[in-house]
Amino acid sequence: MDMETLRRSCGACDKCRLAETRTNVVFGVGSEDADLMFVGEAPGENEDLSGIPFVGRAGKLLDSYLTAVGIDRDSVYIANILKCRPPKNRDPLPDEEDACMPYLREQVRLIRPKIIVCLGRIAAMRLIKPDFKITQEHGVWFRRGSFEMSAFYHPSALLRDPRKREDMLNDMQALAEKLKTL
Ligand code: SF4
Repeated sequence: MDMETLRRSCGACDKCRLAETRTNVVFGVGSEDADLMFVGEAPGENEDLSGIPFVGRAGKLLDSYLTAVGIDRDSVYIANILKCRPPKNRDPLPDEEDACMPYLREQVRLIRPKIIVCLGRIAAMRLIKPDFKITQEHGVWFRRGSFEMSAFYHPSALLRDPRKREDMLNDMQALAEKLKTL
């Protein structure tokens, strides 16, 4: 299956209850040849309205970090575990993640990134390990199959707690250095 076929199939998806409340499916955006993929947990309100991941305040903050460390947003791919917004931004439910994961798996298979960075605890628990502790393990690198993986703070967490921003900058700088060695 190619990316456009996958996008169309995802756009018509009703495999979980979130199909009833979404405005738009938020499939993913960016370069299909990306070495680096960011994976968040789920769309928020602005993403649901626009159909594009990480476009609200949190997305703008993510962009500012990418700019600060010299990573071009257009050169990366950005997606979420869930493609539809949970009502009131509640955490994804396990059966929703199970229903939606095949789309992300297929995106990863098509893009074949070398590095996957989870944004936030929920994505890290799903993709790296179930007991991931974001405050202690953000910025730590894990090898999973052919991928180098890490998890950074979700930009929304940085909006709530600006004291985490220095850690985020350090993690982003390390990521930029890693990209140069690929
Ligand atoms: S969240 Fe995923 S599985 Fe659920 S309806 Fe949306 S695309 Fe389908």
